[in-house]
Amino acid sequence: MTTGSVRLVLFGPPGAGKGTQALYLRDYLGVPHISSGDLFRAHLQQKTSLGNQASEYINQGLLVPDEVTIEIILDKLLTLQPTDGFLLDGFPRTEYQARILSESLTTKSKNIDKVIYIDVPIDELIKRLSNRYICSDCQAPQNLNPSDSKTCTVCGGELYQRADDNMSSVTTRLDVYQRETIPVLDFYRSQDLVITIDGTGPINCINKRVQSQIEKWLTQ
Ligand code: AMP
Repeated sequence: MTTGSVRLVLFGPPGAGKGTQALYLRDYLGVPHISSGDLFRAHLQQKTSLGNQASEYINQGLLVPDEVTIEIILDKLLTLQPTDGFLLDGFPRTEYQARILSESLTTKSKNIDKVIYIDVPIDELIKRLSNRYICSDCQAPQNLNPSDSKTCTVCGGELYQRADDNMSSVTTRLDVYQRETIPVLDFYRSQDLVITIDGTGPINCINKRVQSQIEKWLTQ
């Protein structure tokens, strides 16, 4: 398999570093990054009817209903060629979404190849989410101390804190992850698709762990 045709799901709890790894892997593998959260935030910003529908769920830290989420992701995937690779970030987040994704991909092209599960303990997640800022230009997530400059270290854009990175939404999002999203991991484990990565420590070490696991799998 060539790296450009690899189909991956980046899986993990909120704050695990899926967005950071997605930007790294997008460049390393040369495949498009499709983030359900970014798609929703673009709709919110443009105040589309879908954005208005989704906003009450997002602001409370709840999942947007499956039918709305599945539609925006499948629309995006249908713009790709059957042999194109991609990185899915933040989708699927329910077992139903995972089943529909598999059905849709296997009837039209090819199923996902692997799920990269970034494993981070819960106390570390809470700390990361409360210090997390996102670049308004390139969407790169960054962890800041209160006195740090709010300028993106990747592109120089302005950093902002997500409205749903407040303590109440964070607690809800972690509960929702345990209840609704962990079953997705079991679904993929039963198909032997999951590669687990230790998501703690400096970002460059996590990048190396991810890259070496992917290389190992690609050369098998
Ligand atoms: P994220 O940027 O991935 O943390 O997503 C931000 C928010 O968008 C989530 O807290 C959900 O409200 C919504 N969202 C993103 N992806 C999904 C999904 N696959 N299913 C349902 N809601 C989602």
